[in-house]
Amino acid sequence: MQQYTKAEFIKLIEDKLRRKRSKTMEEATENDLYFVIASIVQDNVMPDWLETQKEYTKNRNKQVYYLSMEFLIGRLIESNLLNCGLLDVANESIQEMGFNPDKVYNQEHDAALGNGGLGRLAACFLDSIASLGYAGHGAGIRYRYGLFEQRIIHGNQVELPDYWLKNEYPWETRKPDESVEVQFGGRVIEHTRRDGSLEIQYVDTDKVTAVPYDVPVIGYQNEVVNTLRLWSAEISPYDRSIHAGAGAQYYHHLEHVHSIEQISGFLYPDDSTYEGKELRLKQQYFLVSATIKNIINKFRDDHGLPLSKLADYITIQINDTHPSLGVPELMRVLMDEEGYPWDDAWDVTRHVMAYTNHTTLSEALEKWPEDMIRNLLPRIYMIIHEINERFCIGLYYDHEELRPHIKDMAIISNGQIHMAHLAIVGSFSVNGVAKLHTEILKQKEMKNFYSLYPEKFNNKTNGITHRRWLLQVNPCLSDKITDAIGPQWIHEPHKLISLLRYTNDKPFLDDMRQCKQHSKELLAKYIYETQGLKVDTGSIFDVQIKRLHEYKRQLMNIFHIIYLYNELKDNPNMDMTPRTFIFAAKAAPSYHLAKEVIKLIHHVASVVNFDPDIKGKLKVVFLENYNVSLAEKIIPAAEVSEQISTASKEASGTGNMKMMMNGAITCGTLDGANIEIRDFVGDDNIFIFGLTSDEVHDYYANGGYNAQEIYHSDPRIKRILDQLNGGIFGKEEIEFKDLFYNIMSHNDPYFVLKDFVPYLETHELIERSYRHQRDWQRMSATNIAHSGKFSSDRTIREYATGIWKL
Ligand SMILES: *Cc1c(COP(=O)(O)O)cnc(C)c1O
Repeated sequence: MQQYTKAEFIKLIEDKLRRKRSKTMEEATENDLYFVIASIVQDNVMPDWLETQKEYTKNRNKQVYYLSMEFLIGRLIESNLLNCGLLDVANESIQEMGFNPDKVYNQEHDAALGNGGLGRLAACFLDSIASLGYAGHGAGIRYRYGLFEQRIIHGNQVELPDYWLKNEYPWETRKPDESVEVQFGGRVIEHTRRDGSLEIQYVDTDKVTAVPYDVPVIGYQNEVVNTLRLWSAEISPYDRSIHAGAGAQYYHHLEHVHSIEQISGFLYPDDSTYEGKELRLKQQYFLVSATIKNIINKFRDDHGLPLSKLADYITIQINDTHPSLGVPELMRVLMDEEGYPWDDAWDVTRHVMAYTNHTTLSEALEKWPEDMIRNLLPRIYMIIHEINERFCIGLYYDHEELRPHIKDMAIISNGQIHMAHLAIVGSFSVNGVAKLHTEILKQKEMKNFYSLYPEKFNNKTNGITHRRWLLQVNPCLSDKITDAIGPQWIHEPHKLISLLRYTNDKPFLDDMRQCKQHSKELLAKYIYETQGLKVDTGSIFDVQIKRLHEYKRQLMNIFHIIYLYNELKDNPNMDMTPRTFIFAAKAAPSYHLAKEVIKLIHHVASVVNFDPDIKGKLKVVFLENYNVSLAEKIIPAAEVSEQISTASKEASGTGNMKMMMNGAITCGTLDGANIEIRDFVGDDNIFIFGLTSDEVHDYYANGGYNAQEIYHSDPRIKRILDQLNGGIFGKEEIEFKDLFYNIMSHNDPYFVLKDFVPYLETHELIERSYRHQRDWQRMSATNIAHSGKFSSDRTIREYATGIWKL
């Protein structure tokens, strides 16, 4: 990648401004500068992008396609500059021109093509794949509307459409020549050929054109540029011309265009629960059909080999079950379009597809009504049906021990299609995303499948790209780390472990402390500017930022804050280190209880933040519109990382890793990757509390938990719940009866009360520990030292050697 001096870079900006915006330097706005710098990066990347693809073809590299309905990439400007080695010169040039670099970069609208962890994981993986020089690409949908923008009005979440494409998106290139056709509906006609084989004709279908938009995925200073291909649904050019008509026909045509464009219209704002919407099914099939067609076209161009060799050159990794229609779609193409018999097609498919499971929450395990698939995708339905028949017959005859379980393992049962079963049967690898999660899959959730296919199951603990989540978001800390241990950690993040030698090094700890203070002040400034609220930068910054979900237990956190408030009211002179509790979270628009929790957090904030009795010892902040860019502002300032899900419910978590890498100490349950964090840092450097996953499973299976008993026996808990029920803090017009009854009448399904006292005691320990700043900093340094193991580079190496065989 070409490098520039500041003078050269400014010259480039000047030229581009003139050509792209018809403006001089004096006339340029922040937005002009952003756009112009992005196009300079894009120009610079082009030669490497072409070269990388040529190399892959020439070397006949095996290629991986990471199929995902979500890519939560956020802004690209800074990370692209960083990976190109242009960030410093860009910052200096922008400053020289009299602008603030952050304000310029803030002009980029976040690409929020994902809901949360699963989509962000896909984005981190692309960064690591390119930075490690692997031939891997992303395939997703170019939603015209990303995840909704959240506004809070009187404490209530309001959703606004996220029209992120309203200004030109400088990172994408439309490739109409590589469009492919995707077919829905219609009828299947079967003919028997003379040789007895079956010929399938698929007629009267609705045809949709999938147009690719390519976004470069730039490796870290290694000249590798991979591709994220996002598909857009458009009306086919043929339909466009024949349907042009007059009157009713014209309106009918417009409706038809609209219904097609809706396929890439918006992202479903649903984090993990099942959405029974036909449109969502269309989106899934659109993604897999377009991508598989594209893969096959390219395979033929590159290799000229028969498709029976496909598995030697291609792996398709599916991110959760959302793209699992890839299994029957690949079968369809191989059989109907390429003439392979079933067994050969099946052999290829089973060696191409690999499946990552992201959840065991039953409400999030995808199931589609049989009728919906039969109507929308008749040929795909026939193939799934056949896969299911063969699978169940095989179980019956070859696995007597599993006979009693056939109905639980079937792909089709009770009128529903179980996508996880389809994904497991149709792929060669099934992985969980943290050790505990994979064990739960093997021993509980998918235990019958594990006994049938033990060789398929494996673990790949999630990770995050340390380039974005440390180097980019926390330059202060990154510099101090490099001063201490040299820059090798940037290429080899496990080398952060050398920081263990500095956990007693006063100058290093002081530097680290200074960076944390600096980050806290920046965040305090942001809070003041956005909310007009002053927070104490000497207080403990205690952070819980993630999607709002009952299992993540933001409710337990706010209960603890109410408890502290009650204590301070009773005893205003209580000696307590001041705390600032920071939340950010979006709730799915139809998730009532989650929205009630947002309202409760706001209500508690409105009381606590302005009560003079509290003497400023408690502040509660809810930052609206949680997205990648907001996470980047909050995480460097975090001191306590709240990871308090009900044990067994959070498959891995990645927010925990981001905050650990920035020196926050985890306050968490033994869930997901928290367990692996604890195993690395040791019990002295993490605050663990609460039920274990086995205890939780035991209560679900055998009962024995009674929330009302706790309510009646612990006056602290009773007081909090009564404050919810009867109008909190004496304001009768605001009540949280639904939250109250969910705990009392539904027996507290996520064990908030059960874990509450251990949680509260853990927080007392945290408060005491924070008073010993040296010890705290030692803990913080120890966490950073071990965080290299949670770089997605480690995760991707494991995928590459263990699954993809690159
Ligand atoms: C990392 C990240 C998540 C995932 O957070 P968890 O705490 O693991 O649930 C969700 N949203 C955004 C914007 C993120 O950056």
